[in-house]
Amino acid sequence: MDTHFWKIEMGQANTEIYQQAAEFLKKGETVAFPTETVYGLGADATSEQAVQKIYQAKGRPADNPLIVHIAKKEQMHDFVTEIPQQAAQLIDAFWPGPLTIILPVRSGALARNVTAGLQTVGVRMPSHPVSLALLEAAYLPIAAPSANRSGRPSPTSAAHVAEDLTGQIAGIVDGGETGVGLESTVIDCTTEVPTILRPGGVSIEQIEQVIGQVHSAKRVLDSAEAPKAPGMKYTHYAPNAPVFIVEGSVEFWHETIRKQQEAGEKVGLLVSEGLADKLMDMDNLEIWLTTSREKSLDQVAQQLYKGLRAFDHTDCSVILAESYERTEIGEAIMNRLEKAAGSKYLREATEGR
Ligand code: AMP
Ligand code: MG
Repeated sequence: MDTHFWKIEMGQANTEIYQQAAEFLKKGETVAFPTETVYGLGADATSEQAVQKIYQAKGRPADNPLIVHIAKKEQMHDFVTEIPQQAAQLIDAFWPGPLTIILPVRSGALARNVTAGLQTVGVRMPSHPVSLALLEAAYLPIAAPSANRSGRPSPTSAAHVAEDLTGQIAGIVDGGETGVGLESTVIDCTTEVPTILRPGGVSIEQIEQVIGQVHSAKRVLDSAEAPKAPGMKYTHYAPNAPVFIVEGSVEFWHETIRKQQEAGEKVGLLVSEGLADKLMDMDNLEIWLTTSREKSLDQVAQQLYKGLRAFDHTDCSVILAESYERTEIGEAIMNRLEKAAGSKYLREATEGR
């Protein structure tokens, strides 16, 4: 399959591009486009055949449902039966934006493979001007998971999408690098107390300011209940080389790197600039930075997937990643890093532990 490539020129209307790309979607083809979180791979959510093409191109397991994207809030009423009060408050506060809300689905309104057979649907109105323009031009509910091969780090640029999916999808709209860099927060509003199923671009703290206390999926998993976001059981976001999260002093980092190198590994570091500076004296390292000097969590989020992907173009055989504080977007950063690492930690032993 030929993959059509459109480049959005900033400061121009790009009307022709949006019309062409929307035509592809209306014909039941797949088109990748930027959102403020990561690039999505879109298809008509009312067409089972179109949606099937997403699963095929990504190699995505069929029991992992897709998020439906809309350009206008009123589109939701076509395929959702009810908007509970807390969902309405969240919509007012965070849409357009990186928050996906799980709501009861209207039977028969969407292709069955969008919801993977569930009675609910995840809905989101993105804020990126390119996604809004495309969604408006198509004026269809568009199912769109991240535009990567299943299991790989999500794409934050059109080049990442092309790397994974060229020849497998009908088109890519290149709108530059994405902003947040991590996926949307997913919150289930079908339960009396809403439950965060996946941390993401909107933090739990921000949500609780609007609707009060919510449950988080971490607690649900701890209590051995079946996960409600089916995607949670799969490994995700992983580069080719194994990833370890390292926690400890600079001395511990030195020691850990040395041990890996003595075992014949080519070591890659996914760290902030401050830590990199302290490890520069070591030889033979491949370093990818997640931040410049300020070390803001927002910057780490933005650079995380790019960094993970970068190691696939090197000969690194092991990646050591720094860990971050679990506040605000740090919760989502650590969630993705743990999945990329398969929860493998290397922690410094401390006295008394
Ligand atoms: P992705 O499309 O790769 O960003 O992943 C979408 C995430 O949203 C996955 O973890 C899905 O399991 C979750 N999701 C989508 N729809 C639903 C739904 N109806 N109920 C629960 N989780 C959902
Ligand atoms: Mg994904």
